[in-house]
Amino acid sequence: MGPTRRDFLKMAGLSTLCLALPPRLAHGAAKVEPSAAAAPLPAAGPGAPGSLPGRRWAMVAEVGKCRADCRDCIDACHGAHNVPDFGNPKDDVHWIGQAPMTQVFPAGAHPRLPENLRNLPLPVLCNHCENPPCVRVCPTKATFRRADGIVAMDYHRCIGCRFCMAACPYGARSMNWRDPRPFIARLDPAFPTRTQGVVEKCNFCEERLAKGVLPACVTACKEKALTFGDLVEPRSAVRELLGKHFSLRRRPELGTEPQVYYIL
Ligand code: SF4
Repeated sequence: MGPTRRDFLKMAGLSTLCLALPPRLAHGAAKVEPSAAAAPLPAAGPGAPGSLPGRRWAMVAEVGKCRADCRDCIDACHGAHNVPDFGNPKDDVHWIGQAPMTQVFPAGAHPRLPENLRNLPLPVLCNHCENPPCVRVCPTKATFRRADGIVAMDYHRCIGCRFCMAACPYGARSMNWRDPRPFIARLDPAFPTRTQGVVEKCNFCEERLAKGVLPACVTACKEKALTFGDLVEPRSAVRELLGKHFSLRRRPELGTEPQVYYIL
């Protein structure tokens, strides 16, 4: 007897599902990629010996100090984390970037804003939200929130479904549509590379904090526009800045509780 109508419908349904899935899922590629496995992230988590002590990490950007033509923070971050440069906006992968003030804080934009403020390039990165929607929607727990507030990623568990990208209201995550390795300017073997079909984003330099070192963007900024520290510690530099200046967070109405603060 040939296939019944029910069998046919089952097969058609499965084929449709496979077509709709991203490459890694469709080909059952939730397996560990050998080259990525060869360079695992440092295992040290919050409170490990030699790490910077922090109970709730946060970043403060004093954007008035930023120079319009400066890319020091971007170059340092992308260099330290093997972020590829595909050379076109369609494939763009970024951990930290720049966006004009009117895009970062659209609610504050109005026609009478001075030109220098309107075009002020603000650093934009993952906000390591207190209530991260990206974490809630990840079906494999590839992205998760650590005890110190860092929203981290386990690249090996990422199946490229991009639910996290859809959930993030800040565009902080990027998808590797192509193999990123040929597009890494200078490969740093100390940090793992990602593979095609894997999402990536800023990790607040968890690997540097584990060695007692501040994030790469913070140390690279000659203008000292970026300050990083423990929000729980009353004498920390971030608390001092936030205690002295009016600061903004991106889209507070969403309840995500971003932990990147902007002093304009
Ligand atoms: Fe997640 Fe986006 Fe918040 Fe980062 S900024 S924690 S990616 S929701």
